[in-house]
Amino acid sequence: MGKLNVGVYWAASCGGCDVAILDIHEKVLKVKEACDFFLWPIAMDFKYADVEALPDKHLDLVLFNGAVRNSENKHLAELLRKKSKLLVAFGSCAHTGGIPALANFTTKQGIFERAYLTSDSTDNPQKVIPKTKVKVPEGELTIPEFFERVFALDQVVDVDYYVPGCPPNPERIWEVLAAVVTGAPLPPKGSVIGAGTKALCDTCERKRTGDKKITGFKRVATTDWDPEVCFLDQGLVCLGPCTRDGCGLQCVQHSNMPCRGCYGLPPDISDQGAKMIAALGSLIDAKDPEEIARIAGELPDQAGYYYRFSAAAGLLERRKA
Ligand code: SF4
Ligand code: SF4
Ligand code: SF4
Repeated sequence: MGKLNVGVYWAASCGGCDVAILDIHEKVLKVKEACDFFLWPIAMDFKYADVEALPDKHLDLVLFNGAVRNSENKHLAELLRKKSKLLVAFGSCAHTGGIPALANFTTKQGIFERAYLTSDSTDNPQKVIPKTKVKVPEGELTIPEFFERVFALDQVVDVDYYVPGCPPNPERIWEVLAAVVTGAPLPPKGSVIGAGTKALCDTCERKRTGDKKITGFKRVATTDWDPEVCFLDQGLVCLGPCTRDGCGLQCVQHSNMPCRGCYGLPPDISDQGAKMIAALGSLIDAKDPEEIARIAGELPDQAGYYYRFSAAAGLLERRKA
């Protein structure tokens, strides 16, 4: 088998997914032996024009991380779709919107006002707001258009596979790369790869006390908790019931922190936030609606809590649309 032509791109992204690829450590040398890179902005200075000049489907594999926030992200998503045989939504942001999609709970205008006018650190007496076109003595400058909302990759272009995680676990990344490099059979198009097929709770080894009745929510910053016992049993919100396994239990087991849901929804669940609300609803130890509302209200920013990584793809977004 010849070398694979590969692209890695970051759209609305923090760069963590790119770094996670390097976290496969010395195996990255095997990737280098097996792949020629045609685009990887965090690693090398490629030009978009060089990618535009490639024949269609020239790239065997593109790992696209980051959500689609602006017109540049969308242009690259469409370009890389055209130039690739396999386009993979890599990481939570590309998969379901991730952290950038929390901005979908507000508007473009709200974001601009806060970022450029009202934040405490802003010094903008002329109240300048970014415009896509600005005339300067030398001509006209353009910047990408900031969209009204954030999109997951498959809301913009056709996607072949999804690798979840914020960022994906390096061991899972290696499994995916090794499968592509060796030409191993791939699952059906549209599959989530590099992850399990169960809910995280099904693989978690923390002890269940059988006492999951919540009379109030606690917060990790202000609570001592038993490192051996299920977080939910201790009144700490853990998104294990509505999150796909496959991360290696990085938070709940290795870091002694509740799961925040970055591996997205398990296969039999259609909305991560709604599933978590249903799970918590069955755990709250109250029947009186006012008492239920009081207990639920102890959690600040509930939409952000339950849709931290899936706001672009969840039911709330579809309802807004
Ligand atoms: S999925 Fe997480 S690590 Fe990857 S780009 Fe998004 S925020 Fe960063
Ligand atoms: S809720 Fe969290 S701590 Fe409890 S079993 Fe599930 S993953 Fe483990
Ligand atoms: S425990 Fe949850 S938040 Fe942490 S890495 Fe795994 S899926 Fe992501």
